[in-house]
Amino acid sequence: MVNAAKYREIQSNFVLNVPGENLDDDNLVFLVERIIQSFLSENSFLLSDEETKQGRPKTYQTGELLSFIVWGVLNGINSCRGLENWLKHNDECCNYILNNKKPSKSTIARFYNSNMFLIEELFRYTINLGIKYDLIGFEHVAIDGTILKANASNFRVIKIDELEYLEYLIDELENNNELLFELKKYFLNDVLDENNYNIIKKIKNKLKREALKLLTKILVNKQEKQDVLDFITYLKVNYNGKNTISLTDPESRWMKDKKGNMGLNYNYQVAIDDKYDFIVTQKLVNDPTDHHQFIPMADEVKMNLNRHPTLYTADNAYLTDNALEYCYKNNITAIMPDRTENIKTKHPKSENRYRKHNFQYNWYTDAYICPENQILEYQNNRRINNKPYRVYSTKQCKNCIYSQECYKGIKREIFRTANPLKIKMSENYNSDLGKQTYKKRFHTGETYFAILKKSRKFPGIQRKTTKKAQTELTLQTIAHNIKIIQKHLKPQ
Ligand code: SF4
Repeated sequence: MVNAAKYREIQSNFVLNVPGENLDDDNLVFLVERIIQSFLSENSFLLSDEETKQGRPKTYQTGELLSFIVWGVLNGINSCRGLENWLKHNDECCNYILNNKKPSKSTIARFYNSNMFLIEELFRYTINLGIKYDLIGFEHVAIDGTILKANASNFRVIKIDELEYLEYLIDELENNNELLFELKKYFLNDVLDENNYNIIKKIKNKLKREALKLLTKILVNKQEKQDVLDFITYLKVNYNGKNTISLTDPESRWMKDKKGNMGLNYNYQVAIDDKYDFIVTQKLVNDPTDHHQFIPMADEVKMNLNRHPTLYTADNAYLTDNALEYCYKNNITAIMPDRTENIKTKHPKSENRYRKHNFQYNWYTDAYICPENQILEYQNNRRINNKPYRVYSTKQCKNCIYSQECYKGIKREIFRTANPLKIKMSENYNSDLGKQTYKKRFHTGETYFAILKKSRKFPGIQRKTTKKAQTELTLQTIAHNIKIIQKHLKPQ
C-alpha cells in the first residue's frame, strides 16, 4: 500500500516521455527554442570548445540552458535560484526546453557567467530577425533612459579618505612591527590596553565600520592583505570624484531615481524603433545623467541596423552641443526639445505665467509674444558663458501693470540661442512632423519601461557589476523582442 505522502512524491516526479507533446502548436516556447537553435547553428563559432569537441557529451547543451534562461525571463523568473525552484513544478514547457533535465542553481549561474557574450549576440540576432521579417521600420527611433536600482546597500559604503588612510596604514605596517603587534592585539584578539589605546582611538576616528573590517582582514595574513590591496585599487578606480563608493557593487553610482530618491543605481538606456516597439540598442551605464548618451546610443543603433533611421527623438537631457555637432556631421535628423519646450511639454500649466516658457515664439516674425500680448522684438546678440544668444525685448514693459511679477531689473529680456544647430533643432521640433513624431515617443520609450517594471515584474537589478547587470537587462530585451516577433510574425 502507498501512503498519501509517498503518492504525492510519485506524482511530482512524473514526467511525460515526449516533452512538449501536450503543448499547443502556437506556444511561445516553440518560438524561443527555434530562435535559439537557429542562432546557435548560425553562430557555432561562438560556442565554447567543450561544446564542439569530440568525446563524452556534456550533460547540458548550450541551447538547452540558454533557452531555459530566456524562457524564465519571459515568465518573470530572473534569478538562478528561482529557475531551479521552478523546475520542481514539473512544468511541461521547461521539460521540453531542457529535454527533461534538471540543472541546479549553480549550473545555471556558471552558464550565465561564462556566456554573457553569447547573450549579447543573441540580442543582436533578434534585431537581425526584426530586420529580416520587416518588424523594424527604420523611420523613427526613440532614445530614452531610466534609473534602475543596483543590487547595492546604501549603507555599505566607504569614503576615499578612508581608502587612502588604509593604504597609508598598510605602508606603515610594512616597517613597523610594534604597530603591527598592537593592531593585531586589538583587531584579532580583542585586547585593548594602555599600549594600544591611543593608536586604536586615532584609527577609529579616521575609519568607520566597513573600513575597520578591511583593516582587520589586512592583519590576518599576507594573502588577505593582498586581496584587500587589490580591492582598494578596484574601489579607487570607481571613485567618481565626490561621493562615497559602494562596497557591495563598486560600479554602481549615487543617482536620483525618477521619484527623486537618492540611491546606488544604474542608468539604463534603450533605443526603440517605433514601428512595433522593437528594441534596437540598449546599454547600462553608471553616468547619472543622459547628457553624454546620445552619441554612443546613435553609434550603436547604426552598428546594429547598419544605418541610421530617418529620425531620432530624445528628450532635452540628451541635447548638448556635442550631440548637435554629431547629428550635423553624420547627416542625422534628430528631434529634441530645448529646455523651454521641454518645460512646456512636461508642465503645460505652469503656475507662474510670466516664466519664459509662457512666452510664445513666432517663427515667421522672429519675435516673442508675452502673456499680456505684447511683442518682444529681436534687439541684438549677447554672449553668456561664452555662448551666443539672441536678445528680445519690448518698450511696453514700463507701462505694464504686471512688470513686478514679470521681471526684476530694468526690462524684461528673453534670450534665445544663436547657435545655428540649436535653431535648426528647434525648427525640426516645432515642425508638424516634429511634433507628431515627438508625441509618439511617449508611447514608444515609456511603454517598454512600464512593461519591464510592471508586466514582467522586473524587481530591479539582481546581479552586481555593470557587465553582469547589463546581461540581466539584455535578457529582458531579448524576451521583449521575442514577444514582438511572436505577436507580429505571420504563421509562415
Ligand atoms: S512686463 Fe513686459 S513682457 Fe512682462 S508681461 Fe508686461 S509687457 Fe509683457
